[in-house]
Amino acid sequence: MTYVIAEPCVDLLDKACIDECPVDCIYEGDRMLYIHPDECVDCGACEPVCPVEAIYYEDDVPEEWASYTKANVDFFDELGSPGGASKVGKTAHDPQWIKDLPPQSHE
Ligand code: SF4
Ligand code: SF4
Repeated sequence: MTYVIAEPCVDLLDKACIDECPVDCIYEGDRMLYIHPDECVDCGACEPVCPVEAIYYEDDVPEEWASYTKANVDFFDELGSPGGASKVGKTAHDPQWIKDLPPQSHE
């Protein structure tokens, strides 16, 4: 099991969660951040600091955002398991359907 980042993160990417992660497994894409499903140690430290409640335990992802569970897997199709987000930096491996989302307003 793992934690999952869902739609509220899209076009916000304020990265508050990154500082909390003890294993550096929250990776930055073009439109949002993604949690590596195999590198995450399920500590839950990231979840309460997200200002828009975008982070959920895998079992608790709201139904409307169920597709984001797969997005947090598909982002790593080409990246594999780098073992640390900071050395990878920002990459554009967002799934195509996320790249195609209309701009999200956070006003
Ligand atoms: S804290 Fe929330 S909104 Fe900010 S980058 Fe992390 S998941 Fe995205
Ligand atoms: S649950 Fe813990 S290990 Fe997993 S992404 Fe959040 S802070 Fe990192």
